[in-house]
Amino acid sequence: MKTAIDKQSVIKTADQYLMNTYSRQPIVFVDGFESTLIDSEGKHYTDFLAGIAVTNLGYSNEKVKSAMLQQANTLVHTSNLFHIEPQVALAKLLCDNSFADKAFFSNSGAEANEGAIKLARKRAYLTHGSEKNEIVAMKGSFHGRTLATMNMTDNAHYREGYGPHPSGFVFTPFNDSEALKQVVGQQTAAIILEPIQGEGGVYPATQEFLQTARQLADQYDCALIFDEIQCGMGRSGYMFAYEELAIEPDIITLAKALANGLPIGAILAKGDYATTFQPGSHGTTFGGNPLATAAGKATVEELLKEGFLDTVKEKSHYMKKQLLNLQANQPLIKEVRGKGLLLGLELNSAGATIVQEMLAKGFIINCTQGTILRFIPPLTISYEEIDAMVTALTDLLGELEV
Ligand SMILES: *Cc1c(COP(=O)(O)O)cnc(C)c1O
Repeated sequence: MKTAIDKQSVIKTADQYLMNTYSRQPIVFVDGFESTLIDSEGKHYTDFLAGIAVTNLGYSNEKVKSAMLQQANTLVHTSNLFHIEPQVALAKLLCDNSFADKAFFSNSGAEANEGAIKLARKRAYLTHGSEKNEIVAMKGSFHGRTLATMNMTDNAHYREGYGPHPSGFVFTPFNDSEALKQVVGQQTAAIILEPIQGEGGVYPATQEFLQTARQLADQYDCALIFDEIQCGMGRSGYMFAYEELAIEPDIITLAKALANGLPIGAILAKGDYATTFQPGSHGTTFGGNPLATAAGKATVEELLKEGFLDTVKEKSHYMKKQLLNLQANQPLIKEVRGKGLLLGLELNSAGATIVQEMLAKGFIINCTQGTILRFIPPLTISYEEIDAMVTALTDLLGELEV
C-alpha cells in the first residue's frame, strides 16, 4: 500500500494548476479494496458513493483487473478505422442481454447522450423531415455538461453564461402523464428520461408514466430514450432499470459503471434506430477502445453472474428497511425512496454537515439537491458495512436532533 503522499502539497499544487471546477474534500485516496478507500494518512472509509455510481464491483475486482492488465499488455488503442475485438464482444454481450440490436461506444455519459440525441434527430429527419427535431426532457433531470446535454438538464445554473444555446429542448414535469401528453407531438424527435432520477434526488419513474411515454413515442413515431447512465449496470437490482417495469425504450445510454471505472459510454438501440447511423454520421477517436471495452466486458460478465443481481435486490430490501426504521424514530427524515442500491433519504433540513460528519466517522455518503442524502455503494457492499453506516447515521442524527 502506498501512503507516501504529502496531502498538503497535493492540495496546494491542485489549487495552483487545476481549474477550480469542483468543491473537493481535502482528502487524497491512495488505495482501496472492495468497498473500502484508504487515504494518504492511512484512514479507512466505507464507501457509499462508488465514485458516483461507477465502481459497482468495488475497488479490487480480480476479473476486471486481470482483463485490464491483459489488454494493457497487448494494445490500448488502435482507432475505429479497424475492427476491435473486445469492442465487438462487449457490443454482443450488451445486445444479447438487453432489448437492443446494436451498440455505439463513446467515452462518457454526456457523450453517449449527445450521440443519442443526434441519433434520434437523424432518424426523425430521415423519416419525417427537419421539422421533427424537438427533444422533450424532464424537470429534475441530469444528462451531462456538454452544450446539448446541459440543455436537457433541469438546472439553469449549469447553463448560465454559456449562451447562445442549441435550441429544440423543452422540459415537462417528471411522472406527470397529462403534462407529457400536452408537450409531445408531431414536432417531437425524442423523449428522454432517467428511469430513476439520480442527481435530481433519487426519484423513480412510475410504471404509468413510462407507459404513457412509450405510447406517445409510438403514436408520434419519436424515440423513447432512457438515460441509464446512473441507474443501469445492475444499480437498480436489474441489469437495466427498464426491465423491472417491462417498458422497453428505443435507445438507452450507459456510462458510469459500464467498465467499473475506466471511462466509457454507450448508446444501445433497436430497430430503425440501430441502423440510422451510417459511415460519417457519428464518430469518436477513443470510443470503444480496446482497454475500456475489455474492462467493460469483464464488468458486464461479473454483473450477469448467476445470482449476483438477486444479492443486489436483497441488500436493497435490507438497507431500505434499516433506513425506514430510522425514519420511524427520527423527525429529521422526511422520506426514504429509491430502488436497488440507488437509495435516497430526504431530510427536513440541509444535508451538507451530515456528509462532513459521516466522513469524519469514516463513511463516504453524498448529498444531492441540498437535502437528499444519496446512497450509491458498490453493489458488493456487505450487510455488516450497511449496518455500520446506518448505525453511524442513526447516532449522528440523534446528536443533531437535540
Ligand atoms: C453522470 C450522469 C451523466 C453524465 O455522465 P458523464 O460521464 O459525467 O458525462 C448523464 N446522465 C446521468 C443520469 C448521469 O448520472
